[in-house]
Amino acid sequence: MPVVAFLGLGAIGTPMARHLATPEFSLRVWNRTAAKAADFASEHDATHAATPREAVDGADFIVTCLSTSADVEALLDGPSGIEAGLADGAMFIDCTSGDPATSQRIAVRLAKKNVAFLDAPVSGGVAGAEIGTLTVMVGGDAKALERANAVIDAFAEKIVHCGAVGAGHALKAINQAMLAVHIWSLGEGLAALARAGVKPAVALEVINASSGRSNTSQNLFPQRVLTRAFPRTFRLALLDKDVGIAARVLREQKIPAPMIQLAAELMSMARRELGEEADHVEAVRVIERMGGEVID
Ligand code: NDP
Repeated sequence: MPVVAFLGLGAIGTPMARHLATPEFSLRVWNRTAAKAADFASEHDATHAATPREAVDGADFIVTCLSTSADVEALLDGPSGIEAGLADGAMFIDCTSGDPATSQRIAVRLAKKNVAFLDAPVSGGVAGAEIGTLTVMVGGDAKALERANAVIDAFAEKIVHCGAVGAGHALKAINQAMLAVHIWSLGEGLAALARAGVKPAVALEVINASSGRSNTSQNLFPQRVLTRAFPRTFRLALLDKDVGIAARVLREQKIPAPMIQLAAELMSMARRELGEEADHVEAVRVIERMGGEVID
């Protein structure tokens, strides 16, 4: 039975890890806030490790789902870092929405220990993680992905090999930049329409039958903004991080990117205004404050 170490039981990591708590795998979990790992192990077919080093010791697969690539890289470091505990031939699957450059550095480092690295960020949100229907975009060696497939498949509906290490992270970041643009542009548009006397529900009915529609207009706004529910599933701070990565990818590739650069600035501003715990859709609250118009 393959031993899987899962590190990072956050909003999306927890439901992902649940799909690995099956008789098919021997699952060990670790989380920085230890109580979350202890609670997980008491409720699922898993053991919890006191340190990340203990979790990865001799594991066949290591899955990470932390906030940033810097957090993943930091786990490797130092005398108590996990790098020293990685087994020869192990597979490192990083599901963090990270940055390509850091992942490329990590992959080179791990290759020296005969540990394969895949960047495997996910999309589909907490709801998709709960029902195991995430889309996973993978960067790295195709043969390594074949080996990792059974583990990733536990929480995925769709697994797409995108290219070399870093390709998954680059693609995820661009997707997130588009999400930010959709949220902000729809927020501005609906605020103006509301002021002009068009109810947001009416505007969405038309937009969702027209070419401007998106997941943001079809799902996020009707379920979260118009209801004023604003559930906290994906932190704005993480979206800000993602759009910042997208802006860097564009700069590195020397593609002029005024729109994505502006989206990055708007997300950073919204994060500063709303704080670290706000949900990403709450960025709309900033538009509402600026314009003095509530979208409900
Ligand atoms: P959360 O903020 O809910 O959780 C972050 C996790 O990372 C927690 O387990 C946290 O530990 C851990 N962590 C943060 N910093 C460190 C550190 N320095 N060292 C060790 N552990 C650390 O984030 P999510 O679960 O929502 O997101 C995780 C990743 O998945 C992010 O990259 C995000 O962008 C991405 N993602 C999230 C989606 C979502 O809908 N939530 C959708 C798609 C991708 P602790 O519990 O101690 O804080």
